[in-house]
Amino acid sequence: MLEADFVIIGSGSAGAAMAYRLSEDGKHSVIVIEYGGTDFGPLIQMPSALSYPLNMSRYDWGYSSEPEPHLGGRVLATPRGKVLGGSSSINGMVYVRGHAHDFDHWAEQGATGWGYADVLPYFKRMEHAKGGEEGWRGTKGPLHIQRGRRKNPLYQAFVEAGKQAGFETTEDYNGSKQEGFGAMEQTIHHGRRWSVANAYLRPALKRGNVRIVNGFARRVVIENQCAVGVEIEARNKIQVVKARREVIVAASSINSPKLLMLSGIGPAAHLRAHGIDVVADRRGVGQNLQDHMELYIQQEATQPITLHSVFNPFCKALIGAEWLLFKTGLGATNHFEAAAFVRSKAGVDYPDIQFHFLPAAVRYDGKAAAKSHGFQAHVGPMRSKSRGAITLRSNDPWAKPEIRFNYMSHPDDWADFRHCIRLTREIFGQSAFDPFRGQEISPGKHVDTDEQLDTFIREHSESAYHPCGTCRMGRADDPTSVVDPECRVIGVDGLRVADSSIFPRVTNGNLNGPSIMTGEKAADHILGRTPLAPSNQEPWINPHWQVSDR
Ligand SMILES: Cc1cc2nc3c(=O)[nH]c(=O)nc-3n(C[C@H](O)[C@H](O)[C@H](O)COP(=O)(O)OP(=O)(O)OC[C@H]3O[C@@H](n4cnc5c(N)ncnc54)[C@H](O)[C@@H]3O)c2cc1C
Repeated sequence: MLEADFVIIGSGSAGAAMAYRLSEDGKHSVIVIEYGGTDFGPLIQMPSALSYPLNMSRYDWGYSSEPEPHLGGRVLATPRGKVLGGSSSINGMVYVRGHAHDFDHWAEQGATGWGYADVLPYFKRMEHAKGGEEGWRGTKGPLHIQRGRRKNPLYQAFVEAGKQAGFETTEDYNGSKQEGFGAMEQTIHHGRRWSVANAYLRPALKRGNVRIVNGFARRVVIENQCAVGVEIEARNKIQVVKARREVIVAASSINSPKLLMLSGIGPAAHLRAHGIDVVADRRGVGQNLQDHMELYIQQEATQPITLHSVFNPFCKALIGAEWLLFKTGLGATNHFEAAAFVRSKAGVDYPDIQFHFLPAAVRYDGKAAAKSHGFQAHVGPMRSKSRGAITLRSNDPWAKPEIRFNYMSHPDDWADFRHCIRLTREIFGQSAFDPFRGQEISPGKHVDTDEQLDTFIREHSESAYHPCGTCRMGRADDPTSVVDPECRVIGVDGLRVADSSIFPRVTNGNLNGPSIMTGEKAADHILGRTPLAPSNQEPWINPHWQVSDR
């Protein structure tokens, strides 16, 4: 029987966490509908293979943006995981909670009960952190988090350079103090990618009250303004998975709004234009799309100590063999082992720029590696004011949605990005890098004036793959909200959305952590439990924030 108490669409970061928590006490049955297939094999499980799955139609939905008007009409890849574990199975495994003030801002925007004090206990519940700040981190949860070994001296050079430039250092950016330079955290455990499939789904499936149904969700079935199931297509057959209590959409910031619209929930005129009967006129569905953008600032290295030495088939085979046999070596890390969160200027009270440091000069998707030894920082502003939208291309559930980010559409974005490039040059120019620094590869020192930097940004900025916000959570009486603070879709009973699409605003860092937290907290709302008691821990805020950027 395709029937359960709770039917979740999507086994990704939020969906898997919900499946785990909703089934925990054994009282409820859960079906997770997932279109993607198995996550078995080294391309997913071996951390250093991270650039492969996002280029593979087997694991990725294959979406891309419409031509972006402010980026010279460029079409940008918008990867989303289509595999057990969703995007957590194809992501970069960087672990960041976000800044405390991000969540306070959510609460201010109408997501009551999602302030930092409220979400911190959920981050602690989900984490099994090794090496974090005492008292601030969870150590018993399903999500294993570690730091890399930082054996390459370039990682130390990066942190030291930040210090030399006068910036803060931090022992744990996921603890009390996000601001500063320090070790990056990874969702890797015993040398394997610690996706939500490994952390949450596999343990939940052992309980016997959770099932995965492999199929493509076409729409939510709604009768008399109440969700009663999900129409799926599996092996060329259309059938309905019935929900005795609730349907929960956790299909990602791209597919969740698409599914709502196909089910009649969205801007009425847009739905009618596609011949879809309107169930609930919610103009916020698909709107408020936001993302992080980043640039790679690449520098030649004068010593042969970078990953360039292993970018050849022979070394890759050796690394793969060691990983297959022992789960150790260069295959067992994502190589993002140092990071920084800094503020762009005086008057900004918490970090709005993120750095990922890599001891190699290579594109994230692995497509273009520099011809020589090099290192790079991925850098980008964290709170762009640009907003875009997801809309339907047609009422055919198989049609890809139209994705318009409107990247760089706000004038502040340009000044912010120029500053990011100049700041990275300042960091790489510190004496800590003297033993290693060669010529700048990219943008190259000839790219210097505002106009030259703008051209570089227009041609080379990339998505950091953090789209969110398209089913915004907010007050139930706010006409732009899609879900209320208990993740209930406004205007339809028995239906919730809980994933990265409900974020009111993008958080300061990568989004796997906050997406899992969303699933964790939503599960308590769905079960009608009293939320975990709020924390009274106060985050560190730089005492000089009003007068200095460091
Ligand atoms: C290439 C890449 C790199 C990233 N790197 C990092 C990183 O290093 N660190 C980090 O924190 N974050 C990173 N992110 C972002 C992070 O992984 C995502 O923001 C997060 O996983 C989103 O979680 P979610 O629950 O919203 O959706 P997802 O995890 O995407 O889950 C959605 C699930 O729903 C399924 N689904 C969708 N539609 C249907 C349908 N119609 N029928 C059936 N199933 C459906 C999908 O197949 C998928 O399994 C990265 C993302 C990508 C794509």
